[in-house]
Amino acid sequence: MDYLAGLNPEQQAAVKQIKGPVMIIAGAGSGKTRVITYRVAHLIRSGVDSFNILVLTFTNKASREMRERITHVVGPEAKNIWMGTFHSVFSKILRVEADKIGYPSNFTIYDTDDSKSVIRAILKEMNLDDKLYSVNLILNRISAAKNNLVSWEEYQKNDQIQADDIESRRPLLGAIYQNFVQRCYRAGAMDFDDLLFNTNLLFKRYPDALNKYQHKFKYIMVDEYQDTNFSQYLIVKKLAAVNENICVVGDDAQSIYAFRGANIQNILNFEKDYPDLKIFKLEQNYRSTQNIVNVANSIIANNKEQLKKNVFSEKENGDKIKVMRAFSDNEEGKLVAEEIMHQRTTKGMRWNDFAILYRTNAQSRSMEEALRKMGTPYKIYGGLSFYQRKEIKDLIAYFRLTFNPSDEEALKRVINYPRRGIGDTTIDKIIVAADQHSITPWEVIIAPEKYLEGRVSASVTGFAVMIQSFQVLTKSQSAYEAALYIAQHSGLLKDLYEDKSVEGLNRYENIQELLNGIKEFSEREDIEEKGLDVFMQDIALLTNDDNDKNKDADTVSLMTIHSSKGLEFPQVYVVGLEENLFPSQMALNSRTDLEEERRLFYVAVTRAEQKLSLSYATSRFKFGTLINCEPSRFLDEIDAQYLELDFTAKPVNNTGSLNYDDERSAWSRTDDKFSKPKPKPASAPVKTTSILAKAHVPSAGFKPSDTSNLQVGMEVEHERFGFGKVISLEGNKPDIKATIFFKEIGQKQLLLKFAKLSII
Ligand code: ATP
Ligand code: MG
Repeated sequence: MDYLAGLNPEQQAAVKQIKGPVMIIAGAGSGKTRVITYRVAHLIRSGVDSFNILVLTFTNKASREMRERITHVVGPEAKNIWMGTFHSVFSKILRVEADKIGYPSNFTIYDTDDSKSVIRAILKEMNLDDKLYSVNLILNRISAAKNNLVSWEEYQKNDQIQADDIESRRPLLGAIYQNFVQRCYRAGAMDFDDLLFNTNLLFKRYPDALNKYQHKFKYIMVDEYQDTNFSQYLIVKKLAAVNENICVVGDDAQSIYAFRGANIQNILNFEKDYPDLKIFKLEQNYRSTQNIVNVANSIIANNKEQLKKNVFSEKENGDKIKVMRAFSDNEEGKLVAEEIMHQRTTKGMRWNDFAILYRTNAQSRSMEEALRKMGTPYKIYGGLSFYQRKEIKDLIAYFRLTFNPSDEEALKRVINYPRRGIGDTTIDKIIVAADQHSITPWEVIIAPEKYLEGRVSASVTGFAVMIQSFQVLTKSQSAYEAALYIAQHSGLLKDLYEDKSVEGLNRYENIQELLNGIKEFSEREDIEEKGLDVFMQDIALLTNDDNDKNKDADTVSLMTIHSSKGLEFPQVYVVGLEENLFPSQMALNSRTDLEEERRLFYVAVTRAEQKLSLSYATSRFKFGTLINCEPSRFLDEIDAQYLELDFTAKPVNNTGSLNYDDERSAWSRTDDKFSKPKPKPASAPVKTTSILAKAHVPSAGFKPSDTSNLQVGMEVEHERFGFGKVISLEGNKPDIKATIFFKEIGQKQLLLKFAKLSII
């Protein structure tokens, strides 16, 4: 069994335990995913039919990588393994079984934008205030209900939920939920949560179907088990009920999706569900240096709720963890970009070896800007992915409508784009008629004389005929030919071509890029089903985390910590370690939330193999205003012996004449421990501990004065930045920006209407 040589004895034992329930709960980097990969290879080598294996991963990327590795050991057999995310695997099953639960097999998968649009339509129809009934809140509530398998009927019957809704002054949530489900059903569409909800429904109502898959999936494995929700838990439990050959791996310390319904209870339940469960422990971390592992351990030790685990590394100590302080978010970007450039040059590394991780997507901007200035190639994962761009969604809406004309959201999107003279009034009429007759808008437009009063515009009929011609075409043409035809004959390509602006050109190129992607897809040899409908189903399942077109390019990776789960990089830069950002402001109210935030920090630091760097800025623009930031409490929690401070950065100063006194650091080092400075005596006028705040003690009774007559050359005093002189003014009232040179911190640009400034 040479192929198992790359495993330690514990890992081997877990791999070889192929019968019965198995659970591995172990720390980051201890080889959990590796065990699953080898286990699958081992099963096949031991004679298990690859068609009988099901592996559930957290991202499509993870499953692609796993399949590649397994192929190395077992060859093309690996192609037959059922492997993917919960959503992709069960949408595949639902396509086969759809008719049982009343859906067409070509059901559309609605993304968040589609769902929001449906909710907006419902709110309008029900005449509800969208401030009280905010779209996001409604979607969260519906999603939570579905993931806990609470149907709209049960939701409406449940006294507790009703009491909660009344308390929150939103008694109509149940009705909205019902309306939402019914509209999606009518449109032949499921959202992401429906894929799991309906799988459960299918298994509950159709024991035969369940039985079929129980016998098909004789061996089941689940990675990242700590982040499964109740709906996923139950699917796995049902499927494994006959053979009980189920192996789950996870790490409670990395559970970071509770906000989306993931339930740590699933790990604890597992022991109860399978009394003869075999538990394996993995304690050695093979990913990171000792310093990194020690830092991770010292972070997670602050959490009260956790299963005790030992994690150690036998790698070298490695560099200490670098903590960088910047004076602004832009400067933080610059520091990180420079450090990456420096590391790459001095250590001969590739751009691929670096990752920048942040708490929120918005933080990518300052990082991007800095990297771009230095000419560093980078790639942002998540954020607005290629497939979320407007022009791409427009063309895909045509595809969706072609395969599923009931798809109301797709229809609304393109019925008058490109413009073909179908006005909003006509569209409203169509929708109202559809509602009245309980049919789809498509049924209205193919027989308008039956449902619409008055003369029907020829454009409506023209549109229907065009879509019907697409339907005929896709039956005989390849995915690429059909896609190209649709792009041309819908008028979309021409519309974009005629827009000669830079953005227009960009959009046109994006469409070309999509068509190229479809061409590649239709020429692939490793898959049999290559129709445009299959291509569409694949991309509907892409999540933000899977946005890896050009995955071979050598680029620095930028992503949120949530998306970095399971990944590893030689060097990792975790940025924005500031109070109210990380931990997030929303997590400060309860221990549970704060602990989830800390687990997120644990996930971030454990992505690093050789070098880890943490940074924070002492000021940052948020919603257009410059705010002071305090270093994150998480920095204080790390054992200082593993850290190395880099406080060399000076505030950016165009004249280069700045003298900054480092002793005034808000975050200074005393007694070998990080500690924030003691609070000032009550009489001190400055409350915040930010470094910028401390740079200036304002004159007694500081009052911003009317700056509407501010002129270049005037001397001013700022509440925090101290004394300075106005260098230039630009913009128009009320958005005048002043560039001011402050004696102490150098040049700054301030939006006058917000600046705490007085003329002296
Ligand atoms: P995470 O909790 O972050 O998902 P994990 O427990 O899944 O981590 P893996 O990603 O499987 O850990 O392994 C971490 C790294 O250690 C990988 O690069 C893997 O190839 C390597 N590794 C794991 N076990 C061994 C081993 N026995 N010998 C050598 N390398 C190993
Ligand atoms: Mg893993």
